[in-house]
Amino acid sequence: MNNSIEKYKENLKRIDELSIEIAESAIEYFQISYNKDSFIIEGQDFNRYSEKDRSYIKRFKGIILEIFENRCAICGGNRGIESDHFFIPKVHGGSFGLKTHHGKIVNNAIPLCESCNRSKGSKSYKKLEERIVSQIIAKNEILTKRIDSELREHPNPPRSNPQHYYK
Ligand SMILES: [Zn+2]
Repeated sequence: MNNSIEKYKENLKRIDELSIEIAESAIEYFQISYNKDSFIIEGQDFNRYSEKDRSYIKRFKGIILEIFENRCAICGGNRGIESDHFFIPKVHGGSFGLKTHHGKIVNNAIPLCESCNRSKGSKSYKKLEERIVSQIIAKNEILTKRIDSELREHPNPPRSNPQHYYK
């Protein structure tokens, strides 16, 4: 009995280590910066529900939900999924799509369930468990790459978007 508990704990620890490693290699591979200074932040970026944020979500929420498997990025639940700003919160001028000084767009939107959204508030993602942050970052790298290639192929949004609904 004790042995299996020990083994279970040891495996959990290995998952944590592995997800951190995956996130680190993803960051290295995609070379995405999570440093605020790497992005162009303008006055309107501090406003909730800005046109910029709304059109970004309208266009990309299908891809975001696909990568996050229609689940909350923190708890994995699927009730009342909404988008929230991830590594740069709104109070610091974070938009859902952050533009680097080189013109690249880095995704800053993650799906959160109502209760995680409420309890996270505008707290920094750094307050989240390291394992969860690593998982979100790994998914965010994939997402940013998908969105980047979509923007390259279609710089202007296609007229009819496939409809995906959060609720
Ligand atoms: Zn949640």
